[in-house]
Amino acid sequence: MAAPNYIVSIGLEVHVQLKTESKMFCGCPVAFGNEPNTQTCPTCLGLPGALPVLNKGAIEKTILAGQLLGCKTPPVVKWDRKNYFYPDMPKNYQISQFDLPLCLGGGVPLYELAYPKDHQKDIAAPGKKVTLTRIHLEEDVAKSTHHKDFTTIDFNRAGTPLMEIVSEPEIDSAEEAVAYLNSLRQILVYSGVSDADMDKGQMRCDVNISVRKKKEDPLGTKIELKNLNSVSVVRKSLHYEIDRQIHEYEKGNSLIQATWRWNDDVGQTELMRTKENADDYRYFPDPDLLPVRTEEMVADVQSHLPELPHEKVERFESDYEITHYDASVLASEIELANYFEKAAEGAKVPKKVANWVINNLLGELKENDLTISDCPVAPEKIGQLVGLVEAGTISNNQAKEVFSDLFANPKKDPAKIAKEKGFEPADNSEIEGFIDQVIADNPGPAGEVAEGNAKAANFLTGQVMKLSRGKANPKMVTETILAKLQ
Ligand code: ZN
Ligand code: MN
Repeated sequence: MAAPNYIVSIGLEVHVQLKTESKMFCGCPVAFGNEPNTQTCPTCLGLPGALPVLNKGAIEKTILAGQLLGCKTPPVVKWDRKNYFYPDMPKNYQISQFDLPLCLGGGVPLYELAYPKDHQKDIAAPGKKVTLTRIHLEEDVAKSTHHKDFTTIDFNRAGTPLMEIVSEPEIDSAEEAVAYLNSLRQILVYSGVSDADMDKGQMRCDVNISVRKKKEDPLGTKIELKNLNSVSVVRKSLHYEIDRQIHEYEKGNSLIQATWRWNDDVGQTELMRTKENADDYRYFPDPDLLPVRTEEMVADVQSHLPELPHEKVERFESDYEITHYDASVLASEIELANYFEKAAEGAKVPKKVANWVINNLLGELKENDLTISDCPVAPEKIGQLVGLVEAGTISNNQAKEVFSDLFANPKKDPAKIAKEKGFEPADNSEIEGFIDQVIADNPGPAGEVAEGNAKAANFLTGQVMKLSRGKANPKMVTETILAKLQ
């Protein structure tokens, strides 16, 4: 960071589209990528006289998000009109929540693997949790697309249930902001609350940034950056904006509270509008909607809470006896976690299955530009493959060859592929013969092993592997050599 004697305070406002079948206040479907203006009705078009009807599923999903993040839900919540004039909201108000939102307090845990990869060794505050101010539920607006000299509006998005998640200004760096977004996304995807795909605009982010000199100083002048549409843009723009603010103060200038935007083409922030007066949205209770009692819904949600990412990590560590790091990698995505659990079902040494998934499968997927959900190989087959190695039927290197074949022909059976390749367990008496021959031919190393240098056995094992043309199981060969000589 440019000047270590400044304290940075960042707060995030994240808008997340909920994964529901229908919209917040009408029965229109929620779907991405369809022909513009084909999923609309008088309510989500904002036509006069059209009345809203609440989507219970959206309320439950927001309560679920809140429960997972440790929020409190007031016993009664209500709906308010946020008044403003803009073409993407033709009724001139957005139905939102003002003083009685669905969730208050709580926090987002920052997971280690959620930090940028190049920063995971320098995490300033491991185990940090960022306090939430609130989560409220509102309706998404229509999507404007600006062309050269005209603008088009698509109302398919209008009325999609939208959670607004507001954090306290407790984030201290651009890297923590990245960790916050990735951790939040992981939790929301895990629990089925949202797909939270930033590329599809399902998760959108505004940030507030200020810097000050000493902890005792009040928070510095707040600059808001609007509509940051990817995690990498959040990181880049925060670095830029922090440096810019410090630079201004160092020059003796003061800042004006304002909204800025990030221009990715030139790689800098630029002023949108100053905010000398706070926006006045003239909130008032929506007369078309009754307040909602939440107690029953909260109890219902609490009765079947899904496992959180960090809870899964702990369970993987103890159930499968794998390291914290491996467990974190496997639990980083719900699909990957489920895949591993299926592959490890009935495995004698689940750790080997974990290693295989992390070291071989993920690498192969990456090379083919695939995600775990597109993985052609069924998890059970990975379990079978690792089982063949464990049983000594094939060696680890042979297993890699079987795996390549399996990846190209996922319908085949690992055992059958091994047989086709001639990877059958070598005849034990033949291997014994090789071992005796190698010991006789290499008195030097054999003598060292006999004197207690177990490492010298590696050389002998290598010789046996050569003689058997890779068919012998190296672990068993080493064991036999040691048994014979020591
Ligand atoms: Zn509609
Ligand atoms: Mn909002």
